[in-house]
Amino acid sequence: MKSHLHPTGLYLVATALVVLGACQSTPPAPTRAAPSPAEVDWDDRTVFQEGLIEAERALLDGMAGASTYHIEVRIANDLLSLQGQETVRYTNQEDVPLDALYFQLFPNAAGGSTTVSAVTVDGQKVEPQAEFQNSAVRLPLPSPLQPGEAAVIAMDFEVAVAREMGGNYGLFGYFDDVLVLDGFYPVIPVYDDEGWNVQDPPPNGDVTYFDASFYLVRVTAPDDLVLVTSGVETGREYADGEQILTFAAGPARDFYMAASEEYVVVSRTVGETTVNSYAPRRQQQGAEHALQFAVMALQSFGQRFGAYPYTEYDVASTPMLALGMEYPGMTAIALNLYDPDGDVLGLPFPVVLESTVAHEVAHQWFYNVVGNDQVDEPWVDEAIVQYVTGLYFLDAYGPAAAQSFQDSWEDRWNRVDGADIPIGLPTGDYTGQEYGAIVYGRGPLFIAALAEQLGQETFDEFLRDYYQSHQWGIGTGDAFRQMAEQHCQCDLHDIFAEWVYGE
Ligand SMILES: [Zn+2]
Repeated sequence: MKSHLHPTGLYLVATALVVLGACQSTPPAPTRAAPSPAEVDWDDRTVFQEGLIEAERALLDGMAGASTYHIEVRIANDLLSLQGQETVRYTNQEDVPLDALYFQLFPNAAGGSTTVSAVTVDGQKVEPQAEFQNSAVRLPLPSPLQPGEAAVIAMDFEVAVAREMGGNYGLFGYFDDVLVLDGFYPVIPVYDDEGWNVQDPPPNGDVTYFDASFYLVRVTAPDDLVLVTSGVETGREYADGEQILTFAAGPARDFYMAASEEYVVVSRTVGETTVNSYAPRRQQQGAEHALQFAVMALQSFGQRFGAYPYTEYDVASTPMLALGMEYPGMTAIALNLYDPDGDVLGLPFPVVLESTVAHEVAHQWFYNVVGNDQVDEPWVDEAIVQYVTGLYFLDAYGPAAAQSFQDSWEDRWNRVDGADIPIGLPTGDYTGQEYGAIVYGRGPLFIAALAEQLGQETFDEFLRDYYQSHQWGIGTGDAFRQMAEQHCQCDLHDIFAEWVYGE
């Protein structure tokens, strides 16, 4: 989910910056051959090893039923359109047969457009049916997909890139010399106890809810474009003014790309993970700050919950109407937070930058590794992440800084005069103002109240357990409550009723 939607909270945090040991490097990197996605066997997961730290590579021996996306996409010279082919192996991991599949086409709800054609399921032609204001297509299956059975779906897709910022917070389009490609490929939503999680695009908050999957993506693009993506680059070739780059990501909940001719990068290595921070050259000072904050946050959350799983983490500054947006293995941060002469919400650079980066890094644990239904239960995503961002300030600067950050939650809640609107509603049940105030303000205050009821030590153990026992699965509000009750050996009905359910 977006972090800090139109926030007005005050984050009065001491930002004693450590001197950076960053070094600047400039592409182009040397060529490296990689097989095209189509040449890689569905069961061959070795290509994903490079993106995972050693301790996580055993994951590749499991998750056999996770979807695998093979995507080839060409970015046009004017950066205003994409042409792609996608092949997905999808396994029915439910206990009921499926008579149809869905693919979501997010550009149709974000100011651009996607069309799909030549759709086949296991080689048989299928006619896609547009639904939900064209933001999804339903594919009737030639025969029902039984539990445990897999199907291979292939399609061509064409994407027109948005030019007007506005749809979905400006996360998809070409603005200010930066191409931002949120949800650019057709993607299968989660099937769960509600059936398919597909709906008209909600006006507020995050719109995605995906299962952890694997992505092999080959991108052909103008060779002066610097691409920042989920996963790691496994291949690079040049031909006729173009670069052909191959990326492998997974397990991960999504695949995202941002690109600009203007990007420069500063990098640092933490353990087995390389952290890269990209920004247009004029914003390099901001990129160095963002790098430092990301490194500190990765260390803080790694110690609290378990190691960051990937060998790469990227931060890219992009134009957008939110402050930041999380993606697997990377984050996009609003360009205006990088301006050393600017102020955001009346606060000096880089105060808001720090809380935004820490918030988005926290989503690597809560959103990417532990998934959740961001549309129906946004508090399980954002309230937890806001609370955890407070723990970053505690770890980095101590209790006074953590208290300042907590005060910002009160400020947010006060935007609806502290109304006792439950935090547990679906995104679509809040007005825009309520959404920010309740989910990002009252939400973390609930988590803090829960921590106080459990005792901080018990709560910290519970949250670590919740994280570790839901890795690469889906966490729900019910699971969160049940596990908290196990840890405290108590009944938490009253506190959940007061804050979450609104009974
Ligand atoms: Zn968030």
